[in-house]
Amino acid sequence: MISTVDTWDLARLGREQRGEAALASFARLLDGLPAQAESLVSWAIAGQTDALQRRYITLRADATVRMVCQRCLAEFDLPLHVETRLQLVETEAEIQAEESGEDDPEAPDQVLGSSFFDVLSLVEDELILALPYVPKHEVCPSLPKELNDSEGGDAGRPSPFAVLAKLKKD
Ligand SMILES: [Zn+2]
Repeated sequence: MISTVDTWDLARLGREQRGEAALASFARLLDGLPAQAESLVSWAIAGQTDALQRRYITLRADATVRMVCQRCLAEFDLPLHVETRLQLVETEAEIQAEESGEDDPEAPDQVLGSSFFDVLSLVEDELILALPYVPKHEVCPSLPKELNDSEGGDAGRPSPFAVLAKLKKD
C-alpha cells in the first residue's frame, strides 16, 4: 500500500499518483463515529508546476463514512468527496512568512513538500474537514411521511398536524 509520495517529482513531471487505503486505518477520522462497514478510501494526488515555477499538488479523495443521523438517530452511509489544491513550499519558514504577510485570500494554502510526503495524513485531514457538523439523512426513512414532506400528507389521509389542530379547537 502506498502511503508516501514524492511531491517534488509529481510537480516537476506533472504526474498523478493514485492509491487506496482501508477506511479502518484512519483512526482520527473515525474517532467518535459508529462501527464502520469495511471499505476503501481512494485518493489521487496530481502535481503541477506553473509558468512562475510555483509548484502545486491537487488532492482528491473519496470515502464512505457511516454516521449517526442527528434527526432520527439511525446510522447511515455518507459519501464524502474532497478536492483541494495546495502550493508546495520547501521550508516551514516560508509558510510562516506567508501567514504573517498580507496574503492574497484567493491563493491556495501552502504545504511543506517532501520526497516522502505522508499523503494518507493529508487525505485524513481533508476528510475530517469534510465531515458535516450535524450529520442528517436528506430524508429520514423511519419518520412518518408527513414529517419529511413539506407538501403535507396524502390527500386521502389527514396529516397528524391537521388532526392535532382540530383537537385543540374542540
Ligand atoms: Zn435520519
